[in-house]
Amino acid sequence: MRQRRTQQNQRLRRDEHHDGPDELRPQVRSIGEMMVAEKLFGTSGIRGKIGSEVTCELALNVGKSLAYYLGNEGCVVIGYDTRTTNQMLDQAITSGLLESGVDVIKIGMVPTPLVGYATEKLDADAGIMLTASHNPSQYNGIKLWNKNGMAYTSEQERKIEEIYANKSYVSVSWDKVGKLSVNEEIKGRYIDDLVGMVDIKKGLKVVVDCASGAGSEISPLVFRKAGCEVTTLNSQPDGFFPGRNPEPNAENLQTLMKTVVAIGADLGVAHDGDADRMITVDEKGNISPFDSLLALISKQFDGDIVTTVDAGLCMDESVKGNVIRTPVGDVNVAEVIIEKDAAFGGEPSGTWLHPDFCMCPDGILSGLRMAEIVSREGKLSELLAKIPQYPNIREKITCTKEQKLEEEYFLFQNF
Ligand code: MG
Repeated sequence: MRQRRTQQNQRLRRDEHHDGPDELRPQVRSIGEMMVAEKLFGTSGIRGKIGSEVTCELALNVGKSLAYYLGNEGCVVIGYDTRTTNQMLDQAITSGLLESGVDVIKIGMVPTPLVGYATEKLDADAGIMLTASHNPSQYNGIKLWNKNGMAYTSEQERKIEEIYANKSYVSVSWDKVGKLSVNEEIKGRYIDDLVGMVDIKKGLKVVVDCASGAGSEISPLVFRKAGCEVTTLNSQPDGFFPGRNPEPNAENLQTLMKTVVAIGADLGVAHDGDADRMITVDEKGNISPFDSLLALISKQFDGDIVTTVDAGLCMDESVKGNVIRTPVGDVNVAEVIIEKDAAFGGEPSGTWLHPDFCMCPDGILSGLRMAEIVSREGKLSELLAKIPQYPNIREKITCTKEQKLEEEYFLFQNF
């Protein structure tokens, strides 16, 4: 498995330098100029408010830009979360791809990790997930995936931005327009493969809270098929997220914390809006400290572990191999996992990558693996208490897109 993945990744490294037909290659602007004027992608794809920042026109032209990047041929997988604005974005980005000569395989309303998985398994050239992850309903976004299931790197995103900004994209002639198909089979394959990754003692009581997001249909089903006794919360797909905000934090998980205690469950698992993340609640109803949870899963693996600069020192004191740190962002973790052939990687936010399964962060597999640990080793509260504790405060600072760009440009010039 590892050897096959390494070969795929070597292929990817060669392929990712392709940036469209030579005669149509866009003018490359200076990075500084582009960052101020044309930057579309943040740390996790394109994201913004519908109508002002994310529009159908943007989706159409990102579709055309991606098609150009792929050489106006090949095939792209598209999935989306439960947001009410996904149908219009899906139609727009699909039109852009088809008009530019790229085939589209629709896989419908699915968790983000299924897009990464499907892109690899269906041998597509790229994947697209329409989601704004943990953001509220009025937001949406576009995240791009490589053929090995890994997110687009910042270098690849910069090439898409250049094509988009220069309007270098092209339409193909009528007889080369892409073909549209729907694949419903891949969901079942993903579910079966996930269940095959773990060995959980029958009857473990798990409460699964999907925020009415993209994990709603698949995540509880996977836990049931893996032998767990599942109680669901917020697992009816609904783009208004009526039960709770899709950010899985203590403030939003009060009902889950109370439910775990009320029914005597062994574990609570909460996803964000697109289920590439998860956080657990222990049998006492306490939300697990992010760093301790990441250290607990990481120590299960032999080999090196990749994490981000904001992960606590408890990582270094818990894992068997080396701890390698990267800038924040799951793609940075993924790139170093591939480069170092690491066993596992993750961000303290609950975005964990399982290279023995797929290079896309997978909140469902993360939850399954926590259930496996609890069923094998005992109570989660006791397992977490054995992890060394260090104070760690995370705060969000509200700022405008312009302020973010200015800060990034400053860092780019000075480091
Ligand atoms: Mg997410």
